Amino acid sequence: GRTQRLDKILAHMGHGSRSELRKMARQGAIRVNGLAVKDSSVHVDPAVDVIEVGGKRVLYREHIYLMMNKPAGVLSATEDARDRTVLDLLDRSYTVFEPFPVGRLDKDTVGLLLLTSDGQLAHELLSPRKHVPKIYEADVEGDVGPEDVRAFSEGVTLEDGYRTQPAELTILSRERRGDQTISRISLTITEGKFHQVKRMFLSVGKKVVFLKRVAMGRLMLDEALPAGACRELTPEEMALLL
Ligand code: URA
Repeated sequence: GRTQRLDKILAHMGHGSRSELRKMARQGAIRVNGLAVKDSSVHVDPAVDVIEVGGKRVLYREHIYLMMNKPAGVLSATEDARDRTVLDLLDRSYTVFEPFPVGRLDKDTVGLLLLTSDGQLAHELLSPRKHVPKIYEADVEGDVGPEDVRAFSEGVTLEDGYRTQPAELTILSRERRGDQTISRISLTITEGKFHQVKRMFLSVGKKVVFLKRVAMGRLMLDEALPAGACRELTPEEMALLL
């Protein structure tokens, strides 16, 4: 296997600084394969050796892969002077990995947001050449009709002149709200331009009033995840991303 310094592994996992870990080792709080290790600079193989801190097993991983059900009102950025960001919603056990959002959702957009510390995976999912489909559900003011479905399937021209790739629009239902019709739709796009879904509807004269991402590639939002909550991807979900 691949060995690394024990203090480096434990610092990465959020168990303290190297000098704190040196002290903890001297006090006998760190065990490897059942034996107290007095020297925190020893090399171990995190894939093979059983590491414990204060009697608790440390499950080593290099990167973290998280699914969040993003709530409205928080930014999908890593820091912001004024607003709360999605990172503010994460436990310390997750933030020690220094995850960042894979792509952006608007402040008022909800739903599936991936966060990872794995720059390579993020790059692949966001690469325009990969055409990873993103599925959104939205409430749109007015009557979304077959003419919009056709226009989106051919590509529409946004206000800045950009012509979108073909997108699949499905009308799910319509309801009356006061004197207004609201259309509930599903839209699959394979690109990720700034405010893309909202701007596509504006190009056909309609306004998005609610927007939720439900899938990215074959990975679907876990609807059991409350708004603002986050969990690690399962091995099965990881396989869907790759
Ligand atoms: N399209 C938008 O307009 N907003 C989002 O947050 C995502 C896609």
